[in-house]
Amino acid sequence: MFLLLSLCMCGLLLRGDAQDRAALWRGNDRSGRCQYTFTVPSPAETSCPQTGGPEVEGLKARLSMLEVLVAQMTAGATGGPQRAGARPQPELQEALNRAVGEKNLLQGEKERLEQEVGELQRRMEEMRRETERLRNRPCPPQTPMVPPSPSLQGGGLMRPAGGSSLMSHLMTRPNRQGDSSSLRDSAWQYGSPGFQELKAEVTEVPAPDASEDNTGCGELVSVGEPVTHRKADNIEGKYGVWMQDPEGVSPYGSNMVWRIDTIGADVRKLFGYEDMEQLSKGFPSKVLLLPEQVESTGATVYRGSLYYQRRRSRTLIRYDLASESVAARRDLPHAGFHGQYPYSWGGYTDIDLAVDEQGLWAVYSTSKAKGAIVISQLDPHSLEVKKSWETNIRKNSVANSFIICGKLYTVASYTAPDTIINYMYDTESSQGKAVNIPFRNKHRYNSMIDYNLAQRKLFAWDNFHMVSYDIKLGRPQAN
Ligand code: CA
Repeated sequence: MFLLLSLCMCGLLLRGDAQDRAALWRGNDRSGRCQYTFTVPSPAETSCPQTGGPEVEGLKARLSMLEVLVAQMTAGATGGPQRAGARPQPELQEALNRAVGEKNLLQGEKERLEQEVGELQRRMEEMRRETERLRNRPCPPQTPMVPPSPSLQGGGLMRPAGGSSLMSHLMTRPNRQGDSSSLRDSAWQYGSPGFQELKAEVTEVPAPDASEDNTGCGELVSVGEPVTHRKADNIEGKYGVWMQDPEGVSPYGSNMVWRIDTIGADVRKLFGYEDMEQLSKGFPSKVLLLPEQVESTGATVYRGSLYYQRRRSRTLIRYDLASESVAARRDLPHAGFHGQYPYSWGGYTDIDLAVDEQGLWAVYSTSKAKGAIVISQLDPHSLEVKKSWETNIRKNSVANSFIICGKLYTVASYTAPDTIINYMYDTESSQGKAVNIPFRNKHRYNSMIDYNLAQRKLFAWDNFHMVSYDIKLGRPQAN
């Protein structure tokens, strides 16, 4: 076998030297086997397939077998156990190294945590011993009990012994009138410094707003968001006036809602709704045709009468709702009318009537006042002017006005969604001042704003929408 192999290999090695001679020899070796010897011809001559004939083909087949044998022998000589062990896989080695490293890290972490546990156990033991020691100490003498102040007794708030309760301190807030002077707590002087700090914090809590008390008159503090009650159905209702009688009389009462749409050539219809719900539904229970045309949005109702400015005149009319007839008429002396001194939005809002806790008012201007707002208190029965005040704010510089508790308030803009009430004039002191109270024109065209003292609300007509605003009144702020 080896001999055959060596012969074949010799033949292959000789192949290069014999490339220029294409030849084949055949003979028997010493053991009688058939022996072939060949040389390869030059590349040009190998193209001839007949060169070696069947003998060459047989030689090729045998050579292939030999090559397979050589490969198997080589593998047998170098393979087996050597193949598995001699090629260590680097991935496995790397993973092994990593696992070992992680194990070492975890071991270190475990040792550290064990140390911490030991430390905590040691501290717990110390604290337990300290607690035990304190329990075994004799109690200090008790602080004498401080009697609760009379005001707290009256309120049913009892202070526990020692005055050390957090709740008891928080309860000593100023009373609803904002006066904390009567709530001196004598226990504070016995308190620890920590409690003194708490007292300072409590004192800083702002006093409750006096506006929480809505039973009496006060200065306007704030105006709420508008609430829409009804939207007018057609163009006649883009501007208008709606109102309730704060001191209503039979047969209508104070729940009756009155409404005038003020766009049109002949504004005389007065709609009456039994209550706000009927207004919201749009079902009037009464429609009155007034004897004189109405000018603009300045009308009001008071004690069973509708008060309004007659169209294109300074004439005021008191229309009695029960008898459905004019009860009084009178010119408002020197009052501008029909576009002479309107509010900033125009609309012939020269004369604006208003009702508050003190009665009936007219807001207007005169040539003598040169466009400044004049306020006149009127006799509700005869329409005579009882007293007048001249302010220093121009009527056409503000969007509208209303009177609460004898104080006139003006609204800066009729279109800005977020505007302010910018001025207040107090008829009691005959003094005016700038104010800044947020006011919302939700629908961006507010053509009427008036105060209703029974509802403690502002009524307004904002671009087809009949809206109302909650208000808060408070104490005048010290200046
Ligand atoms: Ca008004």
